[in-house]
Amino acid sequence: MTFIYKAEPTRGKIWADLFAQKAPDIDFRVWPNIGDPKKVRFLTVWEPPENISEQFPNLEILFSIGAGVDQINFETLPKHLPVVRMIEPGLTQSMCEYVLWAVLSIHRDMPTYHRQQDRKVWKALRVWPANKRRVGVMGLGRLGQVVLNQLRLMNFRCLGWSRTAKQIEGVPTFHGTDLLGSFLSQCDTLVCLIPLTQSTKGILNRDVFSLMPEGASLVHVGRGEHLEPKDLIEALDSGRLSEAILDVTSPEPLPADDPLWSHPKVIVTPHIASMTQPETAIDTVLENIRRFEQGQPLIGLVDRDRGY
Ligand code: NDP
Repeated sequence: MTFIYKAEPTRGKIWADLFAQKAPDIDFRVWPNIGDPKKVRFLTVWEPPENISEQFPNLEILFSIGAGVDQINFETLPKHLPVVRMIEPGLTQSMCEYVLWAVLSIHRDMPTYHRQQDRKVWKALRVWPANKRRVGVMGLGRLGQVVLNQLRLMNFRCLGWSRTAKQIEGVPTFHGTDLLGSFLSQCDTLVCLIPLTQSTKGILNRDVFSLMPEGASLVHVGRGEHLEPKDLIEALDSGRLSEAILDVTSPEPLPADDPLWSHPKVIVTPHIASMTQPETAIDTVLENIRRFEQGQPLIGLVDRDRGY
């Protein structure tokens, strides 16, 4: 059986070595070296190739190399083909690191100190205890819940919002559009960790910013198209929001003349909040192949109707 990898090529070599060690019976190949397309049963991609069904008539699972699947157009895929997104400990760990860094940076006024350093200003600001800062996590899925728990360990006052109701002991949770306003009104820092779907596109907009406390901040690690950048700049310029840390933009890479690059209250990172780590992800992929062969439920199977 053939497994094709079609994503970042340098990491393809790492995957190839891991498959050779852990699953030598699988014919692992890095795109475009696909061998006999009829033998391809598993394909892992960031962006799928065109005409999947014609190219790979015996394909059995399409894996997304990342946690999201918004880059995949389901319309172009055969209806029966399972699409599986990445759920693996390395990806979760790196997301926790990034969000903790971003929330702590804002909490401890690091953007202000960087601006002061540019002007050689030595000026101390009051240190507030973490339990005075309310951090709201938008999206209580595989990543959101782990991130929220880590933030709680740092003593932040956490709250969460999701599509359907969730119960997390000791954490106020909200769900659906009706309760979005109540959630936002309590977010001194908002962390966006929802998938990009038709319902969430453009969700980080003027209306949302106007419902947050004056001077609140944004950590955006979802997808670029969640954000209306003009609305963000307006909110930052008016003081409605104080800081924004953006790991994702639309488009990516962010064009050189985009005002977000040089806005003094924006920190941009190049979509690196979290990355699939082949060394840990290999076990999830092999487990999913085993489950598939035995007719068991797949880890990270995407619900095409929901879009995530
Ligand atoms: P999950 O599918 O496990 O969780 C998604 C969460 O978002 C769920 O709680 C879901 O609600 C909620 N949600 C979805 N749609 C809505 C909506 N319309 N309104 C309110 N809540 C909604 O995803 P993950 O936690 O694994 O990943 C989340 C996202 O993080 C990914 O889709 C990706 O976009 C982003 N990401 C970014 C990375 C980066 O490096 N910047 C890396 C990895 C992921 P419910 O539970 O009710 O279904």
